[in-house]
Amino acid sequence: MTFALPDASETVRLDQIIDGIGVPGDSLLEVRNPGRRSELVGTVVDGTVEQVAAAVDAAFAASSAWAATPVGERVALLARIGDELDAHAEGLATLVARENGSVRAIIRRELMGAGNAFREVGDQLEAKLAPRDHASDSPGTFVRIERKPFGVVACIVPWNAPMILTANKIAPALAAGNAIVLKPSPFAPLGVSLIGRIAASILPPGVVNVVNGGGEVGSALIAHRHVRKVSFTGGGETARHIMRQAADLLKGVHFELGGNDPAIVLDDADLPVTVDRIVDSAFRRAGQVCFAVKRVYVPRSRIDEFRRLLVDRVDRIAVGDVLDSRATMGPLNNEGQLTKVRGLLERTMAQGRDVRVLGTKTDAGAWDDGFFLLPAVVLDAQPDDEIVCEEQFGPVLPVVVYDGEEQAIALANDTEYGLCSSVWSRSTERALAVASRIEAGMTIVNNHLFSHTGSREIPFGGWKQSGIGWEGSPYGIDEYLQFHSVDVQS
Ligand code: NAD
Repeated sequence: MTFALPDASETVRLDQIIDGIGVPGDSLLEVRNPGRRSELVGTVVDGTVEQVAAAVDAAFAASSAWAATPVGERVALLARIGDELDAHAEGLATLVARENGSVRAIIRRELMGAGNAFREVGDQLEAKLAPRDHASDSPGTFVRIERKPFGVVACIVPWNAPMILTANKIAPALAAGNAIVLKPSPFAPLGVSLIGRIAASILPPGVVNVVNGGGEVGSALIAHRHVRKVSFTGGGETARHIMRQAADLLKGVHFELGGNDPAIVLDDADLPVTVDRIVDSAFRRAGQVCFAVKRVYVPRSRIDEFRRLLVDRVDRIAVGDVLDSRATMGPLNNEGQLTKVRGLLERTMAQGRDVRVLGTKTDAGAWDDGFFLLPAVVLDAQPDDEIVCEEQFGPVLPVVVYDGEEQAIALANDTEYGLCSSVWSRSTERALAVASRIEAGMTIVNNHLFSHTGSREIPFGGWKQSGIGWEGSPYGIDEYLQFHSVDVQS
């Protein structure tokens, strides 16, 4: 398969990718711009059970040779996928922004991360995959411990940051020596399918297959006997379905799920900087980020100042078309999201909470054609409010006042989620003491976005109902490897 980026100014029509070739289908899924519903961005094939079977069979047939390919060669090929993503980043950024609804500048940054994920996945991999021999006391006997791939891995991804989440999932799976079948979300399948096309133009046929479709396609994929591991990023409800199905089939799962991230502001925090960064995290992609700030805990002594700065900062958000350089926030991705977040906001208002709807519209005339929502803050949220306890996944930020650090930590941990979190303080020592008591896969001090330093070294994943397993090199590779011990006796 060769790769040419489709002309983004026209409707993009993508086939499935099975065994290195494009496979059309009778039924198509339409992809519309979430900010301009009248605009058809592209179509993908709505998969069938037969196509799923063909894709898994192709992956299975390719898996042994791929696993036997020297690690260095695999890694070099994956780096080429990263380079190709970089080479097409401008066109891809425009296309993905139009299908996903995040402003182009954000998608551009996402693509840089995706390219790096393919290039950096090989760091220290040769050493990790090298067999280790354990000598014993008896001459001629030893145990060799090998790391082996699973064979075929099903990789199921969501729509909210489709390029980086796909790269973070498939790069380690492939580097470990697995062949994959990738299932994008019907809400943002174009860019992900193009990652599949790029990969299929570089890797041997069958190593990467893409089957588009909804839950039925995902379910058929998990059910196939040659799929040995399911790697899923998405919501908790879907994860429960998958886990039940995987339990019947005794297949391993790796889950990256939703979060309800707390930010704890300590009383010595630099509030202007804190508010700026919290707003950047909470409203980026209209709040549709698994590890965005979803609730803020502020000490009573600083609450007035915090509220004033927050309202001022959120009011500067400009909402509009993803390709309009004036817009700092785009629409929500789909109607379900819009209905859910609107409902939460309306119920919060009906409770009598101090809800402020802020920001501006860059083009009020086009507003009703998209899933737009202005950013909102809830200035006097209570710990048990629905808007505080739910993963609302939208451009709303509730603020809860606290008395004493013990209360703040208890409130932050009083949740079924445990993905990410943050602590804000001028004192690293104080911040670290609070951070280490938070029940989450990650806590960031004085930010809610990863630092660039060592970001590929950071294991990313959730505690409690936010996930099972870890992503991010070098730990993420372990999800795609199993041990094989060879006990050599004389
Ligand atoms: P979703 O669970 O609705 O869908 C995710 C994927 O699963 C899609 O490809 C979908 O088609 C597929 N799917 C649906 N039903 C299925 C089934 N029965 N069997 C197999 N596959 C099925 O999630 P979403 O709405 O696309 O994404 C938003 C959610 O993802 C949020 O909860 C968000 O927090 C979470 N998320 C988590 C992370 C993380 O790294 N922890 C990252 C991004 C998003």
